[in-house]
Amino acid sequence: MFGSLASWSLVVALQPAALAAEPDWKAAGDEAASVLAQYLQVDTVNPDGNEDRAVAFLGGILDREGIPWVSYPFAPGRSSLVARLTGSGAEPPLCLVSHTDVVPSEPAFWPAERPPLGGIVADGYVWGRGALDMKGMGVLELQTMIALKRQGVPLRRDVILLAVGDEEVGSGGMNDIVANHWAELGCSQAINEGGMGIRDLLFKGQTLYGISVAEKGIAWVDMVATGPAGHGSRPAPEQAPHVLTRAAAALEAYDPKPRWHWSLLELFKNVAPTQKGLTRMVLGNTGLTKLALRGRFMADPATRAELINTINLTNFSGGSSPNVVPTEVHATLDCRLLPGTTPDDMLALLRSMVPDPAVRFSLLQGRLSNESPTEDSLYRALARAAVTDATGAVRSDAVAGPILSVGFTDSLLLRPLGVHAYGFVPFEVSLDDAVTMHGHGERVSIDNIREGLRILYAAVVEVSRS
Ligand SMILES: [Zn+2]
Repeated sequence: MFGSLASWSLVVALQPAALAAEPDWKAAGDEAASVLAQYLQVDTVNPDGNEDRAVAFLGGILDREGIPWVSYPFAPGRSSLVARLTGSGAEPPLCLVSHTDVVPSEPAFWPAERPPLGGIVADGYVWGRGALDMKGMGVLELQTMIALKRQGVPLRRDVILLAVGDEEVGSGGMNDIVANHWAELGCSQAINEGGMGIRDLLFKGQTLYGISVAEKGIAWVDMVATGPAGHGSRPAPEQAPHVLTRAAAALEAYDPKPRWHWSLLELFKNVAPTQKGLTRMVLGNTGLTKLALRGRFMADPATRAELINTINLTNFSGGSSPNVVPTEVHATLDCRLLPGTTPDDMLALLRSMVPDPAVRFSLLQGRLSNESPTEDSLYRALARAAVTDATGAVRSDAVAGPILSVGFTDSLLLRPLGVHAYGFVPFEVSLDDAVTMHGHGERVSIDNIREGLRILYAAVVEVSRS
């Protein structure tokens, strides 16, 4: 899948003689960590976002570096930023995408001396909400732009920094970019959040770098049960709450067959050569992989969601008083859809599982799943850079490969425009660190910032240098 060391050396040898020097990664990493610490202190908790603050912060740095940028307001106090390094135009632009908003925190559960908006540097980490999701990646992208400019790297395409607001709530920033400003961007490839390097994920001692090539779609559904109103002292099976309870129980029993997305199978094929004996043989064979991993994958909710369309009951509402039976009660369903399943398909499935005429389903919001190919120069550059160490050698303890993301990002909005979008944050973390995203004590190590910057820069240079 990836270039061997030999082919990588060949690529390097074929580059123009007047190569720009590599940045000093120690200094560049320290600088990026310091910028991230300040960026985490900029309050862009969404709601309400207030992403103008992030635009002012990033814009101030870009001004100092002489990199032109514009802001695009999409709501009062809220805007997105577009900065550009101009290339020869031989290829359409490359977009480095990030979102500037962060999710709320519960400070009481964070270390007292490292609060969510503190941007504290301690124990080799930068602490704060957004360190992983995704101000950390935003800083890698910013510092990559800055490094390209400082090193004077000649570009065959524009490299665009696209920092949008409101990803965490309504994708207001990206919706505005797509609807009103796409003509000014027109990128053919994009790097955004998504996969990450996770240590010991499949095998002890090995880091798996997942590059999101696909994201599940959504069907957010209102399930409504109706029935006769009445007094709480006289229960009857046709009353709306009882109808809804039976419907919910029917959905709990949903147990579909697994459907293996091609990305997972390709990932296992990439892992196979790193293993020995039977494991190597099984992972190298699609049929055997499905057979061997089916039970383990279907038993764990995290991996089960990769293999099936999911139905998750996330909210109940209706009724007002303990002794009044309401005419109507609601449940909200968060359904996540594999490629090939439409929101209408999901509605039809729900209706077939709950044929009761007293239950109605209506779509609150639907989005189709979409995907980008691995036969792509940016995908290959990211996969190669992820497993290449600072000396240019291919790491024996790391593998990269495509993954299907069960959650969605703004990439879902870019792919319908023809953009090949890949979700890849080049940090290497433990599973424990990874779950601090949207959780407590979110942090990223300074080592990760330095290495992540080196990896991202290498990939961007590979697909953008003249
Ligand atoms: Zn995010």
